[in-house]
Amino acid sequence: MNARIGQPELLKEINRAHVFEILRHERTVSRPGLADLTGLSRATVSIVIDSLLREGIVREAGFGVSSGGRPPVLLEFRPEAVFALGASMHDYRWSVILTDLDAAPQDREDIAILGSSAEAAIEALSDAVARLLTRNSARRVFRALGVGSPGLVDMRNGIIQSATDLEWFDVPLKTLLQSRTGLEVYVANRSKVGALGERWRGTAKGAQDLIYISIGTGVAAGIIHRGELYIGTNSSAGELGHTTVLPDGPLCGCGNRGCLQQLVSDPAIAGRARERLRETQHGILFERYAERPETLNAPDVFRAAEEGDTLATSILEEAAEYLGIAIGNLVNLFNPEMIVIGGQSGAGSTLFVEMLRDTVRRRAMAYPLTATTLVTAELGSDAAALGAAVLVLQHAPELLFGGNTTSEPQSEFLDAVPEAGPGY
Ligand SMILES: [Zn+2]
Repeated sequence: MNARIGQPELLKEINRAHVFEILRHERTVSRPGLADLTGLSRATVSIVIDSLLREGIVREAGFGVSSGGRPPVLLEFRPEAVFALGASMHDYRWSVILTDLDAAPQDREDIAILGSSAEAAIEALSDAVARLLTRNSARRVFRALGVGSPGLVDMRNGIIQSATDLEWFDVPLKTLLQSRTGLEVYVANRSKVGALGERWRGTAKGAQDLIYISIGTGVAAGIIHRGELYIGTNSSAGELGHTTVLPDGPLCGCGNRGCLQQLVSDPAIAGRARERLRETQHGILFERYAERPETLNAPDVFRAAEEGDTLATSILEEAAEYLGIAIGNLVNLFNPEMIVIGGQSGAGSTLFVEMLRDTVRRRAMAYPLTATTLVTAELGSDAAALGAAVLVLQHAPELLFGGNTTSEPQSEFLDAVPEAGPGY
């Protein structure tokens, strides 16, 4: 149990966080309204609102409807009061996005990583963050950075346990980035933050229970339960790509055989297509790639299938069967309201998603499935960077009141804040 529970400072933090969340959700609300919604006393709400007014997080905006006495002053949430930084890594590139308090993108830096080492990745990310902060020096930004990284992440300590594709092991990303940038750093696997991104800004806006599945070099899931990221006991929940779907299937980097990602990831789909090209004499893939099969990649298979190629279609049907089995299991286990398919190739293919729907219909139990929709992601690879910014936004009150922002609230705005206390 947390030894600090019951201490006044902690209670204050909890109350601020609670009021902050309600304000962000309601947008405009009076002090009495906040007291009703939070269950806090009017006096406590007043104290919290005074501090939020001082920080510029809310402003007073006219009067509400009177319920007998003096009409209550309305408080309006100001998403542009403070900004957050989120970054994600894909294909040896970083996307770093500056967002407002609603995780809406405001500015960005995209940068290539020179080399494949963790040091090179940290160097590139630090440079991109510095450029973004310099360009936005007139804005108030949280001194914090959310990072969506590849691999298995120990979220508590911000350590990448392993990212096998990159051959990174035990990389203390949080510590290294904190000492390079001076920012507080939060790290999570990029599919986990991808789920947050789609929930805050994308196709799953407001969904309470959803599973986001990204298909790329691997396959991974981000699980959101009751609006919160479900991370498991040591933050490794969601390793969907390493669930077994074919007992004696191909060997996986994790040591197991027949892992899902050996059958449906981009490299798996491309590999299967190159292999099957040898057995065929006609069709779109044959005409385009028979002479140089090594140039054939997963997006080419998706495109050829959309154009009606038989070989490409059969490869996708096979992949959709395996992924559909995995999704059917998820539907039965978690009963989510939404399954979101992300990643560059799969999410872009209507044909593939139709094939998936068909398998899931056959594999999942009918009753849980009636509650689930299968949809494609909206944000592409930006989902992870925006979701990484959400990691920062989830700590917004403590960062704000701990003084962890780049500058004080703008004085011209503060001059406009009236004396505290009206409305009661
Ligand atoms: Zn595996």
